[in-house]
Amino acid sequence: MNITELAEGVIAGDRRMLARAITLVESRRKDHRRDAAELLGLLAASGRQALRIGLSGTPGVGKSTFIESFGMMLTGQGLRVAVLAVDPSSARSGGSILGDKTRMDRLSRAPGAFIRPSPSQSQLGGVARRTRDAVTVCEAAGFDVVLIETVGVGQSETMVAQMSDIFLLLLAPAGGDELQGVKRGIMEIADMILINKADGELKSAAQRTCADYAGALRLLRKRPQDPEGYPRALTVSAMEERGLNEVWDQIGRLVEWRRANGHWDRTRRQQATSWFHDEVRVGVLARLDEDPQIQAAMTDLAEQVGRGTLAVSAAAERILDRLRRGG
Ligand code: GDP
Repeated sequence: MNITELAEGVIAGDRRMLARAITLVESRRKDHRRDAAELLGLLAASGRQALRIGLSGTPGVGKSTFIESFGMMLTGQGLRVAVLAVDPSSARSGGSILGDKTRMDRLSRAPGAFIRPSPSQSQLGGVARRTRDAVTVCEAAGFDVVLIETVGVGQSETMVAQMSDIFLLLLAPAGGDELQGVKRGIMEIADMILINKADGELKSAAQRTCADYAGALRLLRKRPQDPEGYPRALTVSAMEERGLNEVWDQIGRLVEWRRANGHWDRTRRQQATSWFHDEVRVGVLARLDEDPQIQAAMTDLAEQVGRGTLAVSAAAERILDRLRRGG
């Protein structure tokens, strides 16, 4: 496959090319990694940006229902929407919580929508990095909105927040008065908390839960990237498609304020910088793991360290020296 043609196809909005490009950036094969790097370089020249919206929530809270309703609303307005996922379970077991095909049936058939399940990789960090590349591909393909879904388990949420402009936390109405054990750290990275299932019998519970979270959000330290009165908590019903316009309006307001106040560009720059550091770090670690000579030296030195005939720091220094010398 000619990489220049692939890049041109993606930028021209060709679906098949888009799917192929994402398959390429998700691949771990060494030759594919080289091609992927070339492709991503060519795609960067498009200069296109999408609004990246991260969405997290525990299984059953209504993520797929929300994405389907919200995505249908956006495509109904003529916007092009891509849906990607970072699924930590695909890293652990090769199976997937987020990937089953019956989800988002309507949206998957909507013109202007593109849905891609989570890449399956052996490590969560790998899943997240490949999704980040897929976001870049979707931006170059001219999508207006890229939704990145993840399951609410600590680290994957932080990773998704790191690649999003807006991070939404989806919660279910609480039974009692507990704040559902949502970790403070997750609340601190949320740009908006949405209490889903605010319909039927659950409506008043949803409103109470929403008020609780609105109160909790007010107690958090104010972040520079938020205008007065943000982050907010809202109730929605993904099933009955209620409150979704309000969510979109609020996102629009936040984005506008952040753009006007320099936060949008600053955050994107910071994200790109930390992504770069991450890639370099991972690359260096991969060299340690993949180089058979270094591996042999590690085994040998580890044995000496274990016997107590060599100091740990001296042994480590020998390996680092090899890396500095290039192998
Ligand atoms: P996910 O695991 O987070 O993707 O959750 P799903 O979207 O698969 O939804 C889990 C269950 O909650 C399904 O039975 C949905 O029909 C239901 N559900 C989702 N959204 C709503 C909602 O707004 N109201 C109500 N009452 N049920 C909902």
